[in-house]
Amino acid sequence: MQESNGAVARHSPLEIAPAEFRALGHRLVDRIAEFLESLPQRPVTPGESPARIRQALAAERSLPHAGSDAAGLLDRAADLLFAHSLFNSHPRFWGYVTSSAAPIGVLGDLLASAVNANVGAWPLSPMASEIEAQTVRWIAELLNYPVDCGGLFVSGGNMANLVCFLAARQARAGRDVRKEGVDGARLRVYCSTETHTWIQKAADISGMGTDAVRWIAVDGQGRVDTRAVRAQIERDRDAGERPILLVANAGTVSTGAVDPLPELAHIGREFGLWLHVDGAYGALAAVAPDAPAALRALAEADSIAVDPHKWLYAPLEAGCVLVREAGRLRDAFSYHPPYYHFGDEAINYFDLGPQNSRGFRALKVWLALEQVGREGYARMIADDIRLSGELFAHLAQFPEIEALTQSLSIATFRFVPADLGPGEERDDYLDQLNRELLTRLQNGGEAYLSNALIQGKFALRACIVNFRTSASDIRVLPPLVVRIGREVDAELRPSGLRIGSGPAGQFPHPSGARSTNG
Ligand SMILES: *Cc1c(COP(=O)(O)O)cnc(C)c1O
Repeated sequence: MQESNGAVARHSPLEIAPAEFRALGHRLVDRIAEFLESLPQRPVTPGESPARIRQALAAERSLPHAGSDAAGLLDRAADLLFAHSLFNSHPRFWGYVTSSAAPIGVLGDLLASAVNANVGAWPLSPMASEIEAQTVRWIAELLNYPVDCGGLFVSGGNMANLVCFLAARQARAGRDVRKEGVDGARLRVYCSTETHTWIQKAADISGMGTDAVRWIAVDGQGRVDTRAVRAQIERDRDAGERPILLVANAGTVSTGAVDPLPELAHIGREFGLWLHVDGAYGALAAVAPDAPAALRALAEADSIAVDPHKWLYAPLEAGCVLVREAGRLRDAFSYHPPYYHFGDEAINYFDLGPQNSRGFRALKVWLALEQVGREGYARMIADDIRLSGELFAHLAQFPEIEALTQSLSIATFRFVPADLGPGEERDDYLDQLNRELLTRLQNGGEAYLSNALIQGKFALRACIVNFRTSASDIRVLPPLVVRIGREVDAELRPSGLRIGSGPAGQFPHPSGARSTNG
C-alpha cells in the first residue's frame, strides 16, 4: 500500500482494522452476555479429566507457523472456555474463597487493556495512577482505616501479605536488612496455626526462613490464644531473639475465624511489634452492619492485606496492600528519591512494591465501587453472611449431617451415616467417606464446595462470597450431600474399613456441634 508521501505503509499481521475490531468485539460481548445469562442452567463444572481437556484443546499441536483468522479464533477460545471451565460465577459455587466476578469489572478489564497504561510509573499512567490511589483510599474507607495510609494493588492476598511482611521487616528489624541481609538478626514473627501458607512463603522469600515463624495455638473457635502469644514473645525476647511482627487473621481461610484484634493490637504496642492483619478474605466484612466487633480494631493495624477479588467480587486478579504510615512502603521497596511533578509528589508505584511494569488492576475495582457504593457492598456482604448462617441452620436439621462451624460466610460440616457405630476407625472412615463425597460432589456440577480440616476431621466447607447466590440455591445443598453421602457409604462400607453398626441415633446429634458464629 502506498502512503501519500510515497512510503509503503507497514502491514502488521497483528493489526485489526477498526471496522473488523468493532464487529469482533460486539460478537464477543454478545457471547459473554449469553454465557453469563446461561450460568444458572449450566453445571458448575463439567468435571472432566486432564486428558479430556487436553484432547479438546489439541494440546499436543505445535505452534502454528502461519496465523489464522481472528473471528474464528475468538469463537474457538470462547467455545473452549465456556465448555470446559469451572464457573466460579455460578450461583452455586462456594469453593475456596473465590467470588463471582462483577460484570462491570469484566468490562473494566477490557478497557484497562485497551488503554494499556503501565501503572509502574506516574508519567506512564497519569489517570490510571490516580484512579489506583483513589481506589486504595476508598478501600481504606470501607475498612474504617486511615485514608492517608499508603497502599497499592498487587495480584492477590499472598502478594499483599508478602508486601506487608517485607514492610514490617524493614521497619522493625533494627538495622537496614535490605542492605545487610538478615544473617544473625534472629527476627521472629507470630501468628496462629490457622494462618494461611503465605506466611511460610514470606518467611522463606524474606530470607528469615520458616523457623522464624512462631505458630501459636488457637481456641475452640479457631482464634489465636493471646496469652500464648504474649508468653512466646516474652520467651523469645528473654532468649535474645528479636520479635518484630504479629500477624492477626481477620477471617481465617478455613473457618472464617476472626482473631481478637483489640488484644493483639495491645500486645503489639506493648512489645513494639508491627501488627499486620491478614484480611484477604474477611476484612471487608467490616462494612456489614453486624460485623464481628473485633473488626473495629482494624484501624489499629500497621498494615492490612485485603483481596478485592474476594469480597469486592472483582474478576481475578486484585489484591490490595494498606500500610498505616505511607512512607513505610518506600522504605521497604524504593531505590529512588521521591519524584515530583509540577510541585506535587507523584506516585510511582514501582517504588512501593516489588513490581516494575504494572497493569491497571484497580480499574475494575474502582468501577464496581462507583457502581454500587458503600451501601451496595454493605448489602451484598451482609447477604452472603446471612445466607451462610441460614445454610448452617438448615444443615443442622439433617440427622446425617454434622454441622461443625460457622463464621463470617463460611460453614463447615460432614456427612455421618445414620447407622454408623462406634469404633476406633470411625474417624478414619468418616474422613475417607467425606473425601470421596467431596470429589463426587465437585465433579457432579450441581454445587461446588471445598474442604477444611476441623480439629483433625475432614470437613466439607461452603464459603459464600457470591452475589448471585440466593436462598433457593443453598436449600439444594443439604439433600445433595445426603444423597451422595449415602451412595458413597453404600459402596465403601461393605468392602472398606469395618465399622461396627449400631442403632441409629447412638451418636450425639449435631446440635452438640460448636458454632464459631462471630
Ligand atoms: C485467599 C487468602 C489468602 C491468599 O490470597 P490469594 O488471593 O489467593 O493470593 C491469604 N489469606 C487468607 C486469609 C485468604 O483467605
